[in-house]
Amino acid sequence: TALGPALGGTRFFPFSSEDAALRDVLRLAKGMSYKAAAAGLDLGGGKAVIIGNPADLRSEHLFRSFGRLVDSLGGRYVTAEDVGTTTDDMIAIATETKWVTGLPEAHGGSGDPSPATARGVLAAMRAVSEYLWDTDDLSDRTVAVQGVGKVGTSLVERLTKAGAKTVIADINTDAVNNVSSAHGSVVVGTDEIFGVDCDIFAPCAMGGAINADTVGKLNCTAVVGSANNQLETEDQADRLAERGILYTPDFVANAGGIINIADEFHGYDWRRAAVAIDRIHDNTARVLATARERGINPNVAAIEVAKERIAGIGSINLKRRGHTS
Ligand code: NAD
Repeated sequence: TALGPALGGTRFFPFSSEDAALRDVLRLAKGMSYKAAAAGLDLGGGKAVIIGNPADLRSEHLFRSFGRLVDSLGGRYVTAEDVGTTTDDMIAIATETKWVTGLPEAHGGSGDPSPATARGVLAAMRAVSEYLWDTDDLSDRTVAVQGVGKVGTSLVERLTKAGAKTVIADINTDAVNNVSSAHGSVVVGTDEIFGVDCDIFAPCAMGGAINADTVGKLNCTAVVGSANNQLETEDQADRLAERGILYTPDFVANAGGIINIADEFHGYDWRRAAVAIDRIHDNTARVLATARERGINPNVAAIEVAKERIAGIGSINLKRRGHTS
């Protein structure tokens, strides 16, 4: 909470034990702290977990009770959707507390964050393009998109408008067929997508896309995508660097969703949110420049940039709250 209230979603999942749930929530909250800090938001990082199977346990009673718990924290933690929770659950929470975001548009919220996330990923790609090719023009670039769900589909649409060629893969054949007929994308298999000869590989499916099996197959110049936790282990950032592939840290490129949600604190306005999302371009450029100056990989650089902001602005905030002289 050094930068502000801790914002992050509620994950509803049948964790095997309280220890497993605690490990996950701490890892996720840490990631949210870096994401908010690197995005330039005055927000901390938080996350909540509810242990159980949503298919059996989801009820209004559960989410209103949870809403009261969130309310008891007095705004230090602000919740939102995550795996296993829905906008309807957020409406139930909102009956008990104002410390909830990601509400549907009809309830004064910002609705589905996916188009905002895709907009931010495109901004990061333009920054990468300037860094590598001295132009933000993506026309005639080839981008391989792994996963054409909510974010991947919106990203392909934006890339097509920008003149880029897209190659796509998804385990859901309806999804690939729809995107391919709408945007002329080339379809390949879910294993094949890693080795596609392309300029940018965009992981937009599940976490861990870059791992010991896949890192050697990549045939791209840069990795820029929306998926959370793209690196199965952090040392994969070094493997990518050794292969001459520029990695854009996921939490920098995919911050569009949280930036959009954070605008709800001011009474949601799409134009203001869009301006803030487009700053992902500059945030990405700053991280890549820091990595080059310090001779470190971009993932380590992004964490350093985030920690420096948390320490710097956090110390001003502490003084403001009267915690130090
Ligand atoms: P989604 O569930 O709508 O889409 C994911 C897609 O990936 C689905 O179409 C699924 O079939 C496909 N997929 C799953 N496994 C695959 C595989 N092995 N190979 C190819 N395709 C596979 O999710 P989304 O909201 O589009 O999010 C995509 C990623 O971006 C997730 O990792 C998510 O955590 C992350 N993310 C999303 C947002 C957002 O605003 N939605 C924000 C930040 C990060």
